[in-house]
Parts: sequence; structure tokens; C-alpha cells
Amino acid sequence: MRTIPRILIVEDEPAIAELIAVNLRHNGFQPMWAIDAETAQRELDEILPDVILLDWMLPGESGLTLARKWRASARTKAVPILMLTARGDEADRVAGLDAGADDYIVKPFSPRELLARIRAVLRRRVPEASGGVVKMGDLQLDADTHRVNLADKPLKVGPTEFKLLHYLMRHPERVHSRGGLLDKVWGDHVYIEERTVDVHVKRLRESLGEAGNMIETVRGAGYRFTSNPSV
Ligand code: CA
Repeated sequence: MRTIPRILIVEDEPAIAELIAVNLRHNGFQPMWAIDAETAQRELDEILPDVILLDWMLPGESGLTLARKWRASARTKAVPILMLTARGDEADRVAGLDAGADDYIVKPFSPRELLARIRAVLRRRVPEASGGVVKMGDLQLDADTHRVNLADKPLKVGPTEFKLLHYLMRHPERVHSRGGLLDKVWGDHVYIEERTVDVHVKRLRESLGEAGNMIETVRGAGYRFTSNPSV
């Protein structure tokens, strides 16, 4: 069961915030509103949203400063930020993206466009970003060094297969649909066909050699990564 995505709106103009909130609520999101940087920080300290909609022009700390700050903080660095801006010129957009925003939307925007952008940044949240070592049986993946070992012997794994394996290893023992894997591993590339997943799974199994059977095909449903393969 999916939880309702929580969206933090950081916007000093109540009319705009209200309009956004109404649209989000009608479309299955849970909006929260912060009128300034301080309120936004308090919200973030309390509960992390799935997406932050961040107005550029705020009293006190600007949206740009906030984006930079939240990107640098361990707690908030993975939360997608969508900048809301009246500034449409390219230099400003680049500044927003450089500050760590995932995307920006130029005011005035249509609610439909905003929703589409929010869904896109949600899809784009690729879990591969997190580092560290994941182990399962004899198989070990190090996300920092991009190495995969089987019983301490290094394996050759392509970049996409690596991302796929990393995701599967961090979400084992459950069935992943092809569409779900596309969302989580490939992110926002909606033009990729589901068949592509099969191709990469096949390659990944080959790369894993004798551990290839840890990726099971679940008929009619998708794939499962398991420490206890049935064949
Ligand atoms: Ca403003």
C-alpha cells in the first residue's frame, strides 16, 4: 500500500500556497504549508516530506539559500526540491539547479503542469544515490567503490545492472513489477519499455554467475531478489 506523498510548500504568498494546496489535496497528495524559512525548517526537523516546493523569493532567506542549505544537510539532502520562480531566464534557472534544486517551475504555472513536475521528481528519486555496503549471502555490493564481489572474488557488472542489483539487494524477498523497477532504477525515463528490464535482468544474472539464481522470475508479476533461491 502506497502512503500519501507529503508535499511541503514553502511560499510566503498565502493565495498561491492555498491554490497549490487545494490542487495537491484533490490529487492525492498531502500538502503542508510553511510561510517562511523558519517555519519550513521546523517542519523539516519534525517530519520529512516527499517533495519540497520552494519559492525563490521569500522574505529573509531566499529559496536559493534554503535549497543550498537543505542539500548540504544529511537529513534533507535526498528530498527532491522543486523551485517555484517568477524568474524565467536561463541564468536564474541554472543557479537554482546548481543550488541543488531537482527542477524548477516558472510562475504562473498551471496546476496540471505542477502536478506533472511533482510526479516526475518523485519518480526520479533514484535510491542508488545512497552509499555503503550491502551484503547477502556471498554476494557483496559496495556502492561507494562500485564493486561487486561474490565470495570475495570481483564480478564485472555494467552500470545499469549495478543500479538494478543495488536496488534489488536493498529490497530483497519481495516481488518487483517491471514498471516498479523502471520507476525506481531508471527514474524518469518513461519512454523505456518494460521489456528493457528483462534485458538487464538477463545481463545481471549472467554477470552474477552462480549467484544469478538469486534473482527469481515471478511469473506474471516480475522479479524477486532472494537469499534462498528455489532452483
Ligand atoms: Ca514569494
